[in-house]
Amino acid sequence: MAEAVYAVGLDVGGTKIAAGLVDRDGELLREERYPTVGSPAKLLDALERAVVEACEGQSVGAVCLGVPGLIMARENRVVFSPNLRAIEGIPLKDELEHRTGSPITIENDANAAAWGEFRFGAGSGVDNLVFVTLGTGVGGGIITEGLLLRGAHGSGGELGHTTLHATGPRCTCGNRGCFEALASGSAIERRARELARAEPGSALGKVAAESGEVSGEEVTRLARRGDPGAVSVLREAGRWLGIGLAGFVNVFNPEVVAVGGGVSAAGDLILAPAREEVRLRARSPSRDLVEVREATLGAASGMLGAAALARDASGAYVLGE
Ligand SMILES: [Zn+2]
Repeated sequence: MAEAVYAVGLDVGGTKIAAGLVDRDGELLREERYPTVGSPAKLLDALERAVVEACEGQSVGAVCLGVPGLIMARENRVVFSPNLRAIEGIPLKDELEHRTGSPITIENDANAAAWGEFRFGAGSGVDNLVFVTLGTGVGGGIITEGLLLRGAHGSGGELGHTTLHATGPRCTCGNRGCFEALASGSAIERRARELARAEPGSALGKVAAESGEVSGEEVTRLARRGDPGAVSVLREAGRWLGIGLAGFVNVFNPEVVAVGGGVSAAGDLILAPAREEVRLRARSPSRDLVEVREATLGAASGMLGAAALARDASGAYVLGE
């Protein structure tokens, strides 16, 4: 029998680190979770512990960290991470290889999630995938002809900061009218608050008056019950999603667009208007081929994808391609 092959993938977030031991079939054999801590020295200690505990007792070929923010792939260093400042500038690869003895790779977290869906999830049957994750922000990743698009520095695939509306709402990145400012969970909550203020007697207005806020989950819950205000908020976000996707469909001609993240739980309430915009705006034949579907791996996509991107000292993916 061939020797079992394992890799460890880490999904390093602003509040937690998830570390998983994964086999060639994308089976998650062990998962450890740790809180993300504030200082660079403590963060390195936590990452070391996560790697060591996820590897424990198994022969692990390599480890990959999916990290938030802009990375310099050649230097394996994070240069800008607004949600995890402590990780900026740390020589992650050198330091963790020295401490753990495993080959370490650093990838952008959304690119890792895209690779997870490509290898084991919604894109596992195709060679060309566009992945967007709609959460508080919007992340993305592109696989074209089986290759992950990284760009010159490893920062490629930042689909969430494509400008869709020149004078639109301000984005966290400083620009206006980004995909993220129009179709993220935060954008949905902002529109729901605006509607609640404008119509205090509406269902959204009542929720806002009772709890002081309107969460994205609440908007989805109300929309499922047919509340017209909540439905309109999701339809508007879905239309912006589709306007963004139509551009990506024209550029990348993917077989599948997979939509993940917390907002995708709204299902067709957001995906149906998105598909309609793609059909109206993208060009034939790309628009006729593409299928816009929900991602299937949920929150595990980043960890599974990171494991699948782990490379040994020769640069080969230890879980195969
Ligand atoms: Zn932006």
